[in-house]
Amino acid sequence: MNSMEKSAQAFTRAARVIPGGVNSPVRSFKNVGGTPVFIHSAKGPYVTDIDGNRYIDYVGSWGPMILGHTSEAVVEAVQKAARRGTSFGAPTEDETELAELITRFVPSVETVRLVNSGTEATMSALRLARGYTQRDLLVKFQGSYHGHGDSFLIAAGSGAATLGVPDSPGVTKATASDTLVAMYNDLDTVWSLFKKHGGNIAAVIVEPVSGNMGVVPPEKGFLEGLRAITEQYGALLIFDEVMTGFRIARGGAQQLYHIKPDMTTFGKVIGGGLPVGAYGGKREILEKISPNGPIYQAGTLSGNPLATAAGIAVLRTIESIENFYEIMEEKSARLCDGINAASYESEVPLVVNRVGSMITPFFTDAQRIKDYGDVIACDKEKYAAFFHQLLQRGVYIAPSQFEASFVSYAHTDEQIHRSIDQFRSALKAVRGK
Ligand SMILES: *Cc1c(COP(=O)(O)O)cnc(C)c1O
Repeated sequence: MNSMEKSAQAFTRAARVIPGGVNSPVRSFKNVGGTPVFIHSAKGPYVTDIDGNRYIDYVGSWGPMILGHTSEAVVEAVQKAARRGTSFGAPTEDETELAELITRFVPSVETVRLVNSGTEATMSALRLARGYTQRDLLVKFQGSYHGHGDSFLIAAGSGAATLGVPDSPGVTKATASDTLVAMYNDLDTVWSLFKKHGGNIAAVIVEPVSGNMGVVPPEKGFLEGLRAITEQYGALLIFDEVMTGFRIARGGAQQLYHIKPDMTTFGKVIGGGLPVGAYGGKREILEKISPNGPIYQAGTLSGNPLATAAGIAVLRTIESIENFYEIMEEKSARLCDGINAASYESEVPLVVNRVGSMITPFFTDAQRIKDYGDVIACDKEKYAAFFHQLLQRGVYIAPSQFEASFVSYAHTDEQIHRSIDQFRSALKAVRGK
């Protein structure tokens, strides 16, 4: 057994002064039991905890670490930037550079505003959508997560799903009534909302590949249908690509599925592990935000020099590697195939959903997992047992059945191979439990 004594002590200490001992609920291990490992440092595909245990890491800070941890390019860029100044509250050329990179990678984004988190990006995009269309209502999908803004905490995924509080106290009834919920991969539920409320729906926001109820890909025609419905009713289509952006393809999910949304939100990868978000889209829409337009959005630290430098370093590195996304696809497919084989050999049935380097193994007898109903029917106790078996074997995956795990560019074939062996052995250990 790995000793996790120091982590346990650190958690006790943290819990005295930090609610729940963590600064974001999914870190708490609530969904898998036990107490979280406290991290000391990380390098490439590895994280090391304060007891000195090293893990092959498939959490990757929940998405940002596409190059792996402490990549030379990012560390150097941040150090260099810090020496020049950590914040000015005045424009810098680097902000333009990052915006240029984003618009180059994602052609539907003509102009883009930088903010400090994915949550801020989606909140700002929603305000803009409402202001632009002069309508109030929002359509979101059950089990989707768009950060912790009030309007999005209705039937939400991620930590909200994990902790069983999809409708958070503190969200007013008025806010809740402005949010309409449809079922992911079910266009009929979207049509019926539009038939009833179409004239007052400002936007549909969707994770084009759902990652926050575990990975659930869009079925054929789903995203196309959303595009058609929103166009017909004059509502905006917002792709929340905070997780999928720059991860599953160069141009994100919209490139992979050939759909052009009106607006897109980003985060995670574009910050290289520093706090960044962004929202962008059609110039005509973005012109409505201040200072050019009347819709207000601002930020003291927006476009922060360190975060911007990290983001530029990540995107430039990706650009400099030929076939970056093909390589990511190969690595991720290898891991996925290995998990499927391990499931077969250990006689523990799984549905392994994967899009690019986003993966979730679902513990289920079902043939496929296509929506939130399928997801919550999975055996989360078995997932929890499996998670701890893996942790003991030095592999760190998402501590919840309702989350994605991530492969990074830094994961070598050898490490992926070793992980598959550990998956097999962990699956055998939970068989029959
Ligand atoms: C992580 C995530 C967010 C929230 O981003 P934060 O930086 O955690 O605020 C929003 N949308 C999606 C799809 C995400 O995966």
